[in-house]
Amino acid sequence: MKPQLKAAAQMATILIVEDELEMARGLRDLLEFESHRVMLAEDGASGLRLSRSLEPDLIVLDLMLPDMDGYEVCRQVRSQNSRVPILMLTARGQEHDVIRGFEAGVDDYVTKPFSVAQLLARIKALLRRSQAPAADTQKFQIGSWWVDCDTFSLRCGQEQTPLTYYEVEILKLLHHHQNQPVSRDTIFQKVWGMAADPTNRAVDNFIAKLRKKIEADQKNPQHLITVYGMGYKLIP
Ligand code: CA
Repeated sequence: MKPQLKAAAQMATILIVEDELEMARGLRDLLEFESHRVMLAEDGASGLRLSRSLEPDLIVLDLMLPDMDGYEVCRQVRSQNSRVPILMLTARGQEHDVIRGFEAGVDDYVTKPFSVAQLLARIKALLRRSQAPAADTQKFQIGSWWVDCDTFSLRCGQEQTPLTYYEVEILKLLHHHQNQPVSRDTIFQKVWGMAADPTNRAVDNFIAKLRKKIEADQKNPQHLITVYGMGYKLIP
């Protein structure tokens, strides 16, 4: 038993971008209690600055910030070619915001007011996935694309399209079960590492994003097939 090593492996640098200082500080105290190193940013610009200098292991990003919205922060983080997991905080019932968030590169979201236990579970799941040791070298083909799991990209000749961490994980799972339907719940459980939440649209949103990248005609997909009432199936 080497408890110190275990603790060190679980410790992460977390950046919280949130202008409601009371909430941000409360969250920082909780995460520091769990042995994480936490930095706070009160607006998007300082969030982006800290994201570049700190290279955090996770960003908790509020949607409504004084200088720019969370989508813009997310887009700029992603444009720095960073794959850091981003958890967005949104107000309840703003499904539209959630979809825009996934488009901008958010990995998961929690709606305010949130339960502390739920938020910590989400953070833990995101960190567990991103800190997992790199999987064995993998490349596989979908249509004319090669999915390169090491460089997080789709390649076809000279053409290259970047993929995010969760996009790669979903493709790996569907590829593993190719030509068989995989339920949304299974995808959520295996990829996000936690029990499925029927209100969470993450899986559908990620499939929509993947279709944009992979399918010649998104409305008539040939590879990422919807299995009605069930989930999705990959036909390579
Ligand atoms: Ca706010």
